[in-house]
Amino acid sequence: MGKQRVLSGVQPTGTLHLGNYLGAIRNWVEGQSNYENYFFIADLHAITVPHDPQQLADNTYSLAALYLACGLDPEHTTIFVQSHISAHAELAWLFNCITPLNWLERMIQFKEKALKQGENVSIGLLDYPVLQAADILLYQADLVPVGEDQKQHLELTRDIAARLNFQYGTEENPILKVPEPLIRPEGARIMSLTDGTNKMSKSDPSEQSRITLLDTPDQIRNKIKRCKTDPVRGLSFDDPDRPECQNLLTLYQLMSGQAKTAVAEECAEMGWGQFKPLLTEVMIEGLRPIQDRYTALMTNKQDLEGVLQQGKDQASEIANKTLTKVKDALGYSRPL
Ligand code: ATP
Ligand code: MG
Repeated sequence: MGKQRVLSGVQPTGTLHLGNYLGAIRNWVEGQSNYENYFFIADLHAITVPHDPQQLADNTYSLAALYLACGLDPEHTTIFVQSHISAHAELAWLFNCITPLNWLERMIQFKEKALKQGENVSIGLLDYPVLQAADILLYQADLVPVGEDQKQHLELTRDIAARLNFQYGTEENPILKVPEPLIRPEGARIMSLTDGTNKMSKSDPSEQSRITLLDTPDQIRNKIKRCKTDPVRGLSFDDPDRPECQNLLTLYQLMSGQAKTAVAEECAEMGWGQFKPLLTEVMIEGLRPIQDRYTALMTNKQDLEGVLQQGKDQASEIANKTLTKVKDALGYSRPL
């Protein structure tokens, strides 16, 4: 049996932060030799909220370079830009026509993001999960790594696949593979530096709330110096009254690569004044190799272009096959 196919993506809406890295990309990198991987830059999704064209272009390349700098390896992983493959938009249209409107109106992300935008909500924001279904189903993915925030969308993807199979396929010959979620129990959920009860996010208006993979040592020092803590002396995990302590210890553990028990022991008697410089150092050192690789990739864009071209060629072959299969089933290629 061949390897199972895994697919996921990140929107180029800002620079990757430690949450994206420790919660998603690092896991993709670690698992990449066990699976057949497709990881893309979701630039069509990025315009479902107001955007700046130049920033979209810059962020797209920067994110591709960060994928590689974090360790995604084109030997194991197809890396591509969503908008380079027109099958995504085309399949999304076909899905639009079989997806009941009320399935989309229930989506939590739509409700939350629509609320933030007031009057200026596009149809694209509502349609976001249908495009996401197209992204996943085009590649007949077996597994989709999902965080808590994306579970509802994967459920919708499964519903769309099942509906298309039921309406236009046969039981023996389904048109689309219904994917399963890939949930990693150890997947870290990293919280904001300014509020330990909120997740770290690209879209948080406060730069202070997150450490990005491209922050300079000075920026990291400053952010950690000013991050929220508590007045208790001695640091411990798993105290529900100390969400910031939990988050900062977790960051220290993951960035230093130590076992949780070792960190708990090391920090049990520490005050914040002693802990913060330690955390700062492991972060600066942990991000340095990623930043060095990133700088090299951005100074020689040809390599990056090559990876994305190869990704486009590999991905479009599979995507176009699936698109043709769906179009055939819907009646588009029958003889006159
Ligand atoms: P936005 O605020 O624009 O939604 P984001 O920071 O939530 O940005 P996404 O592009 O939505 O980032 O998500 C990319 C990947 O990172 C997803 O797999 C998501 O589950 C994961 N992720 C995002 N934030 C965190 C976090 N704080 N901790 C762990 N994983 C995270
Ligand atoms: Mg998000």
